Amino acid sequence: MKKIEDIDFERLTRDDLIWLLQRENSNELQYLYDRAYETKLKYVGNKVYLRGLIEISNICSKDCYYCGVRRSNAHVRRFMMSKDEIIKAAKWAWEKKYASLALQSGERSDTDFVEFITDILREINRFSNGSMGITLSVGEQSEKAYRLWREAGAKRFLLRIETSNPELYKKIHPADHSFEERLASLALLRKTGYQVGTGVMIGLPGQTFEDLADDIIFFKKQDIDMIGMGPWLPHHDTPLGVQYPQIDQKKQLEMGIKMIALVRLYLKDVNIAATTALQAIDPFGREQGLKAGANVIMPVITENEHRGDYLLYDGKPVSDESAEGFRQALQNSVSGIGEEIGFGLQGNSRHWQKRTGA
Ligand code: SAM
Repeated sequence: MKKIEDIDFERLTRDDLIWLLQRENSNELQYLYDRAYETKLKYVGNKVYLRGLIEISNICSKDCYYCGVRRSNAHVRRFMMSKDEIIKAAKWAWEKKYASLALQSGERSDTDFVEFITDILREINRFSNGSMGITLSVGEQSEKAYRLWREAGAKRFLLRIETSNPELYKKIHPADHSFEERLASLALLRKTGYQVGTGVMIGLPGQTFEDLADDIIFFKKQDIDMIGMGPWLPHHDTPLGVQYPQIDQKKQLEMGIKMIALVRLYLKDVNIAATTALQAIDPFGREQGLKAGANVIMPVITENEHRGDYLLYDGKPVSDESAEGFRQALQNSVSGIGEEIGFGLQGNSRHWQKRTGA
Protein backbone atom coordinates (compact mmCIF):
# COMPACT_ATOMS: atom_id res chain seq x y z
CA MET A 1 0.00 0.00 0.00
CA LYS A 2 1.27 3.48 -0.93
CA LYS A 3 2.35 5.62 2.04
CA ILE A 4 2.39 9.41 2.04
CA GLU A 5 5.87 9.40 3.65
CA ASP A 6 7.24 7.62 0.56
CA ILE A 7 6.21 10.36 -1.86
CA ASP A 8 8.94 12.56 -3.36
CA PHE A 9 7.33 15.97 -2.84
CA GLU A 10 10.10 17.66 -4.82
CA ARG A 11 9.08 15.79 -7.96
CA LEU A 12 5.38 15.04 -7.86
CA THR A 13 3.99 13.03 -10.76
CA ARG A 14 0.44 13.22 -12.14
CA ASP A 15 -0.32 9.94 -10.35
CA ASP A 16 0.98 11.41 -7.07
CA LEU A 17 -1.25 14.47 -7.53
CA ILE A 18 -4.31 12.30 -8.12
CA TRP A 19 -3.48 10.05 -5.16
CA LEU A 20 -2.92 13.05 -2.86
CA LEU A 21 -6.18 14.68 -3.96
CA GLN A 22 -7.96 11.50 -2.88
CA ARG A 23 -6.58 11.58 0.71
CA GLU A 24 -9.16 12.13 3.46
CA ASN A 25 -7.38 10.89 6.57
CA SER A 26 -6.61 13.86 8.80
CA ASN A 27 -3.04 12.74 9.61
CA GLU A 28 -2.23 12.34 5.94
CA LEU A 29 -3.78 15.72 5.14
CA GLN A 30 -1.79 17.41 7.89
CA TYR A 31 1.38 15.79 6.53
CA LEU A 32 0.56 17.19 3.08
CA TYR A 33 -0.19 20.69 4.41
CA ASP A 34 3.05 20.69 6.44
CA ARG A 35 5.13 19.79 3.37
CA ALA A 36 3.38 22.55 1.39
CA TYR A 37 3.98 25.07 4.18
CA GLU A 38 7.70 24.20 4.27
CA THR A 39 7.86 24.74 0.52
CA LYS A 40 6.13 28.09 0.89
CA LEU A 41 8.62 29.24 3.55
CA LYS A 42 11.52 28.11 1.39
CA TYR A 43 10.40 29.77 -1.85
CA VAL A 44 8.28 32.79 -0.89
CA GLY A 45 8.66 33.29 2.88
CA ASN A 46 6.09 33.89 5.58
CA LYS A 47 4.72 37.28 4.47
CA VAL A 48 1.06 37.56 3.58
CA TYR A 49 0.46 40.14 0.85
CA LEU A 50 -2.79 42.08 0.77
CA ARG A 51 -4.67 43.06 -2.36
CA GLY A 52 -7.52 45.45 -1.59
CA LEU A 53 -10.32 44.08 -3.74
CA ILE A 54 -12.68 46.60 -5.33
CA GLU A 55 -15.75 45.02 -6.92
CA ILE A 56 -16.49 47.79 -9.39
CA SER A 57 -19.51 46.46 -11.27
CA ASN A 58 -21.75 43.42 -11.55
CA ILE A 59 -22.84 44.26 -15.10
CA CYS A 60 -21.81 41.30 -17.24
CA SER A 61 -22.18 40.31 -20.87
CA LYS A 62 -21.38 36.67 -20.10
CA ASP A 63 -23.85 34.00 -19.00
CA CYS A 64 -21.76 31.41 -17.12
CA TYR A 65 -24.04 28.71 -15.67
CA TYR A 66 -22.48 28.95 -12.19
CA CYS A 67 -22.22 32.68 -11.62
CA GLY A 68 -24.73 34.73 -9.63
CA VAL A 69 -24.15 37.88 -11.70
CA ARG A 70 -24.63 36.14 -15.08
CA ARG A 71 -26.40 38.22 -17.69
CA SER A 72 -29.66 36.23 -17.52
CA ASN A 73 -30.12 36.58 -13.77
CA ALA A 74 -32.94 39.12 -13.69
CA HIS A 75 -32.97 39.19 -9.88
CA VAL A 76 -29.68 41.06 -9.66
CA ARG A 77 -29.70 44.79 -8.94
CA ARG A 78 -27.03 45.92 -11.40
CA PHE A 79 -24.55 48.58 -10.34
CA MET A 80 -21.44 50.34 -11.52
CA MET A 81 -19.31 52.26 -9.04
CA SER A 82 -18.46 55.82 -10.05
CA LYS A 83 -14.90 56.85 -10.75
CA ASP A 84 -14.91 58.94 -7.57
CA GLU A 85 -16.05 55.99 -5.44
CA ILE A 86 -13.34 53.76 -6.89
CA ILE A 87 -10.59 56.34 -6.43
CA LYS A 88 -11.76 56.99 -2.87
CA ALA A 89 -11.46 53.26 -2.08
CA ALA A 90 -8.06 53.09 -3.81
CA LYS A 91 -6.77 56.07 -1.81
CA TRP A 92 -8.04 54.52 1.41
CA ALA A 93 -6.11 51.35 0.56
CA TRP A 94 -2.98 53.37 -0.24
CA GLU A 95 -3.14 55.25 3.04
CA LYS A 96 -3.60 51.98 4.96
CA LYS A 97 -0.43 50.61 3.31
CA TYR A 98 -2.16 48.08 1.09
CA ALA A 99 0.44 48.41 -1.65
CA SER A 100 -1.65 46.41 -4.09
CA LEU A 101 -5.19 46.58 -5.40
CA ALA A 102 -7.37 44.25 -7.43
CA LEU A 103 -10.13 45.74 -9.56
CA GLN A 104 -12.76 43.18 -10.47
CA SER A 105 -15.96 43.40 -12.44
CA GLY A 106 -18.35 41.54 -14.70
CA GLU A 107 -17.17 41.34 -18.27
CA ARG A 108 -17.70 44.30 -20.61
CA SER A 109 -15.55 45.17 -23.59
CA ASP A 110 -17.29 48.26 -25.02
CA THR A 111 -15.27 51.43 -25.63
CA ASP A 112 -16.84 53.29 -22.68
CA PHE A 113 -15.75 50.55 -20.30
CA VAL A 114 -12.23 50.35 -21.73
CA GLU A 115 -11.85 54.13 -21.34
CA PHE A 116 -13.35 54.10 -17.86
CA ILE A 117 -10.81 51.53 -16.66
CA THR A 118 -7.97 53.41 -18.40
CA ASP A 119 -8.94 56.63 -16.59
CA ILE A 120 -9.02 54.89 -13.24
CA LEU A 121 -5.63 53.26 -13.77
CA ARG A 122 -4.07 56.60 -14.71
CA GLU A 123 -5.54 58.29 -11.66
CA ILE A 124 -4.34 55.57 -9.25
CA ASN A 125 -0.90 55.73 -10.80
CA ARG A 126 -0.88 59.49 -10.47
CA PHE A 127 -1.63 59.62 -6.75
CA SER A 128 0.61 56.64 -5.90
CA ASN A 129 3.53 57.72 -8.13
CA GLY A 130 3.24 54.46 -10.01
CA SER A 131 4.00 52.37 -6.98
CA MET A 132 0.63 50.66 -6.46
CA GLY A 133 0.57 47.04 -7.66
CA ILE A 134 -2.66 46.94 -9.64
CA THR A 135 -4.32 43.70 -10.69
CA LEU A 136 -7.22 43.70 -13.13
CA SER A 137 -9.82 40.96 -13.21
CA VAL A 138 -12.32 42.08 -15.83
CA GLY A 139 -12.50 39.15 -18.23
CA GLU A 140 -11.59 38.54 -21.86
CA GLN A 141 -10.59 41.66 -23.78
CA SER A 142 -8.91 42.70 -27.02
CA GLU A 143 -5.13 42.87 -27.30
CA LYS A 144 -5.56 46.63 -27.73
CA ALA A 145 -7.37 46.96 -24.39
CA TYR A 146 -4.81 44.79 -22.58
CA ARG A 147 -2.02 46.95 -24.01
CA LEU A 148 -3.75 50.21 -23.18
CA TRP A 149 -4.34 49.16 -19.58
CA ARG A 150 -0.81 47.86 -19.19
CA GLU A 151 0.52 51.22 -20.37
CA ALA A 152 -1.92 53.02 -18.05
CA GLY A 153 -0.43 51.19 -15.06
CA ALA A 154 -2.02 47.75 -14.59
CA LYS A 155 0.72 45.26 -13.72
CA ARG A 156 -1.16 42.02 -13.18
CA PHE A 157 -4.22 40.33 -14.62
CA LEU A 158 -6.26 37.50 -13.19
CA LEU A 159 -8.25 35.47 -15.69
CA ARG A 160 -9.35 32.08 -14.44
CA ILE A 161 -9.50 29.30 -16.98
CA GLU A 162 -12.22 27.92 -14.62
CA THR A 163 -11.31 24.33 -15.60
CA SER A 164 -8.55 23.07 -17.86
CA ASN A 165 -10.83 20.32 -19.19
CA PRO A 166 -12.44 21.68 -22.40
CA GLU A 167 -15.34 19.20 -22.11
CA LEU A 168 -16.17 20.27 -18.57
CA TYR A 169 -15.76 23.92 -19.63
CA LYS A 170 -18.45 23.32 -22.27
CA LYS A 171 -20.82 21.90 -19.67
CA ILE A 172 -20.64 24.92 -17.40
CA HIS A 173 -20.84 27.61 -20.08
CA PRO A 174 -23.24 28.45 -22.93
CA ALA A 175 -22.17 27.42 -26.45
CA ASP A 176 -20.82 30.87 -27.37
CA HIS A 177 -18.32 30.93 -24.46
CA SER A 178 -15.13 29.49 -25.85
CA PHE A 179 -12.42 27.64 -23.94
CA GLU A 180 -9.99 28.33 -26.79
CA GLU A 181 -10.64 32.07 -26.62
CA ARG A 182 -10.06 32.10 -22.87
CA LEU A 183 -6.80 30.30 -23.46
CA ALA A 184 -5.88 32.76 -26.21
CA SER A 185 -6.57 35.62 -23.77
CA LEU A 186 -4.08 34.14 -21.31
CA ALA A 187 -1.49 34.10 -24.10
CA LEU A 188 -2.28 37.75 -24.94
CA LEU A 189 -1.82 38.73 -21.31
CA ARG A 190 1.60 37.13 -21.36
CA LYS A 191 2.46 38.83 -24.66
CA THR A 192 1.37 42.27 -23.42
CA GLY A 193 3.62 42.07 -20.36
CA TYR A 194 1.41 41.27 -17.38
CA GLN A 195 2.08 39.12 -14.36
CA VAL A 196 -0.40 36.46 -15.42
CA GLY A 197 -2.82 34.91 -12.99
CA THR A 198 -5.30 32.14 -13.55
CA GLY A 199 -7.20 29.56 -11.55
CA VAL A 200 -10.10 27.14 -11.47
CA MET A 201 -13.21 26.37 -9.52
CA ILE A 202 -12.80 23.33 -7.32
CA GLY A 203 -15.49 20.71 -6.70
CA LEU A 204 -17.58 21.50 -9.79
CA PRO A 205 -20.29 18.95 -10.58
CA GLY A 206 -18.74 16.33 -12.86
CA GLN A 207 -15.14 17.36 -12.07
CA THR A 208 -12.82 14.42 -11.36
CA PHE A 209 -9.58 14.06 -9.37
CA GLU A 210 -7.85 13.65 -12.74
CA ASP A 211 -9.30 17.00 -13.89
CA LEU A 212 -7.94 18.75 -10.79
CA ALA A 213 -4.50 17.16 -11.20
CA ASP A 214 -4.53 18.29 -14.84
CA ASP A 215 -5.46 21.83 -13.71
CA ILE A 216 -2.27 21.94 -11.63
CA ILE A 217 -0.20 20.61 -14.53
CA PHE A 218 -1.89 23.20 -16.80
CA PHE A 219 -0.76 26.05 -14.48
CA LYS A 220 2.81 24.82 -14.72
CA LYS A 221 2.76 24.32 -18.50
CA GLN A 222 1.33 27.81 -18.95
CA ASP A 223 4.14 29.16 -16.76
CA ILE A 224 1.59 31.05 -14.65
CA ASP A 225 2.76 33.66 -12.10
CA MET A 226 -0.23 33.86 -9.75
CA ILE A 227 -3.03 31.51 -8.82
CA GLY A 228 -6.49 32.48 -7.60
CA MET A 229 -8.74 29.47 -7.19
CA GLY A 230 -11.44 28.38 -4.80
CA PRO A 231 -14.32 26.01 -4.23
CA TRP A 232 -17.37 26.21 -6.49
CA LEU A 233 -20.39 27.18 -4.39
CA PRO A 234 -23.97 27.05 -5.67
CA HIS A 235 -25.97 30.20 -6.33
CA HIS A 236 -29.72 29.64 -6.18
CA ASP A 237 -30.44 31.74 -9.31
CA THR A 238 -28.04 29.92 -11.64
CA PRO A 239 -28.62 26.79 -13.76
CA LEU A 240 -25.82 24.89 -11.98
CA GLY A 241 -26.99 26.00 -8.52
CA VAL A 242 -30.58 24.92 -9.29
CA GLN A 243 -29.43 21.53 -10.57
CA TYR A 244 -27.03 20.93 -7.66
CA PRO A 245 -28.36 22.95 -4.71
CA GLN A 246 -26.83 20.71 -2.03
CA ILE A 247 -23.10 20.37 -1.64
CA ASP A 248 -20.91 19.07 1.14
CA GLN A 249 -19.35 22.36 2.23
CA LYS A 250 -16.74 20.69 4.42
CA LYS A 251 -15.57 18.60 1.47
CA GLN A 252 -15.48 21.65 -0.81
CA LEU A 253 -13.32 23.50 1.70
CA GLU A 254 -11.02 20.51 2.19
CA MET A 255 -10.59 20.08 -1.56
CA GLY A 256 -9.85 23.81 -1.88
CA ILE A 257 -7.10 23.59 0.76
CA LYS A 258 -5.64 20.41 -0.79
CA MET A 259 -5.44 22.19 -4.14
CA ILE A 260 -3.57 25.11 -2.57
CA ALA A 261 -1.10 22.70 -0.98
CA LEU A 262 -0.52 20.80 -4.21
CA VAL A 263 -0.14 23.93 -6.32
CA ARG A 264 2.46 25.22 -3.84
CA LEU A 265 4.35 21.92 -3.99
CA TYR A 266 4.16 21.65 -7.78
CA LEU A 267 4.77 25.27 -8.80
CA LYS A 268 6.79 26.40 -5.75
CA ASP A 269 7.46 30.14 -6.29
CA VAL A 270 4.10 31.48 -7.54
CA ASN A 271 1.75 33.73 -5.59
CA ILE A 272 -1.33 31.85 -4.39
CA ALA A 273 -4.42 33.59 -3.04
CA ALA A 274 -6.49 32.24 -0.18
CA THR A 275 -9.77 33.34 -1.74
CA THR A 276 -13.06 34.60 -0.31
CA ALA A 277 -14.86 31.37 -1.26
CA LEU A 278 -12.79 29.56 1.43
CA GLN A 279 -13.88 32.12 3.98
CA ALA A 280 -17.51 31.78 2.81
CA ILE A 281 -17.45 28.18 4.05
CA ASP A 282 -15.41 28.72 7.22
CA PRO A 283 -14.58 32.05 8.91
CA PHE A 284 -10.97 30.77 9.18
CA GLY A 285 -10.90 29.22 5.71
CA ARG A 286 -8.37 31.77 4.47
CA GLU A 287 -6.03 31.15 7.41
CA GLN A 288 -6.23 27.41 6.66
CA GLY A 289 -5.26 28.28 3.09
CA LEU A 290 -2.24 30.25 4.35
CA LYS A 291 -1.11 27.30 6.48
CA ALA A 292 -1.30 25.05 3.42
CA GLY A 293 0.77 27.27 1.14
CA ALA A 294 -1.20 30.38 0.10
CA ASN A 295 0.52 33.77 0.56
CA VAL A 296 -2.02 36.35 -0.64
CA ILE A 297 -5.31 37.60 0.82
CA MET A 298 -7.75 39.83 -1.01
CA PRO A 299 -9.98 41.62 1.49
CA VAL A 300 -12.93 43.36 -0.16
CA ILE A 301 -12.49 47.06 0.56
CA THR A 302 -15.51 48.52 -1.20
CA GLU A 303 -17.74 49.87 1.48
CA ASN A 304 -20.85 50.92 -0.37
CA GLU A 305 -24.52 50.26 -0.84
CA HIS A 306 -23.83 47.66 -3.56
CA ARG A 307 -21.71 45.34 -1.45
CA GLY A 308 -24.55 42.80 -1.28
CA ASP A 309 -25.14 42.89 -5.04
CA TYR A 310 -21.85 41.28 -6.05
CA LEU A 311 -23.07 37.84 -5.06
CA LEU A 312 -21.31 35.24 -7.18
CA TYR A 313 -22.54 32.39 -4.93
CA ASP A 314 -24.81 31.95 -1.93
CA GLY A 315 -23.27 32.71 1.45
CA LYS A 316 -20.63 35.15 0.13
CA PRO A 317 -19.53 37.20 3.15
CA VAL A 318 -20.64 40.82 2.93
CA SER A 319 -19.01 42.11 6.11
CA ASP A 320 -17.15 45.39 5.80
CA GLU A 321 -13.54 44.28 5.58
CA SER A 322 -12.32 47.85 5.42
CA ALA A 323 -13.59 48.59 8.94
CA GLU A 324 -10.89 49.19 11.56
CA GLY A 325 -12.09 46.21 13.66
CA PHE A 326 -11.74 43.89 10.71
CA ARG A 327 -8.20 45.05 9.93
CA GLN A 328 -7.16 44.43 13.48
CA ALA A 329 -8.85 41.01 13.51
CA LEU A 330 -7.12 40.08 10.26
CA GLN A 331 -3.75 41.19 11.59
CA ASN A 332 -4.31 39.20 14.79
CA SER A 333 -5.35 36.04 13.01
CA VAL A 334 -2.43 36.24 10.58
CA SER A 335 0.10 36.76 13.36
CA GLY A 336 -1.70 34.00 15.33
CA ILE A 337 -0.59 31.50 12.69
CA GLY A 338 3.00 32.77 12.71
CA GLU A 339 2.74 34.91 9.60
CA GLU A 340 3.19 38.58 8.98
CA ILE A 341 1.20 40.96 6.77
CA GLY A 342 3.43 42.64 4.20
CA PHE A 343 2.13 46.17 4.71
CA GLY A 344 3.62 48.63 2.22
CA LEU A 345 4.95 45.81 0.02
CA GLN A 346 3.58 45.11 -3.45
CA GLY A 347 4.34 41.42 -3.13
CA ASN A 348 5.10 40.72 -6.76
CA SER A 349 5.19 37.09 -7.83
CA ARG A 350 8.68 35.62 -7.30
CA HIS A 351 8.04 33.40 -10.27
CA TRP A 352 7.42 36.48 -12.44
CA GLN A 353 10.57 38.15 -11.04
CA LYS A 354 12.64 35.13 -11.97
CA ARG A 355 11.13 34.71 -15.40
CA THR A 356 11.58 38.39 -16.33
CA GLY A 357 14.63 39.31 -14.28
CA ALA A 358 12.56 42.12 -12.66
N1 SAM B 1 -15.62 38.77 -15.25
C1 SAM B 1 -14.30 38.46 -14.84
C2 SAM B 1 -13.88 37.10 -15.32
O1 SAM B 1 -14.72 36.37 -15.85
O2 SAM B 1 -12.72 36.76 -15.23
C3 SAM B 1 -14.09 38.57 -13.34
C4 SAM B 1 -15.27 38.42 -12.46
S1 SAM B 1 -15.81 36.74 -12.25
C5 SAM B 1 -17.28 36.96 -11.35
C6 SAM B 1 -14.62 36.16 -11.04
C7 SAM B 1 -14.62 34.68 -10.75
O3 SAM B 1 -15.70 34.35 -9.90
C8 SAM B 1 -14.76 33.73 -11.90
O4 SAM B 1 -13.55 33.57 -12.58
C9 SAM B 1 -15.27 32.46 -11.23
O5 SAM B 1 -14.23 31.51 -11.07
C10 SAM B 1 -15.74 32.94 -9.85
N2 SAM B 1 -17.11 32.47 -9.58
C11 SAM B 1 -18.24 32.80 -10.23
N3 SAM B 1 -19.28 32.10 -9.76
C12 SAM B 1 -18.82 31.30 -8.78
C13 SAM B 1 -19.40 30.33 -7.92
N4 SAM B 1 -20.69 30.04 -7.99
N5 SAM B 1 -18.60 29.70 -7.03
C14 SAM B 1 -17.28 29.99 -6.95
N6 SAM B 1 -16.66 30.89 -7.74
C15 SAM B 1 -17.42 31.54 -8.65
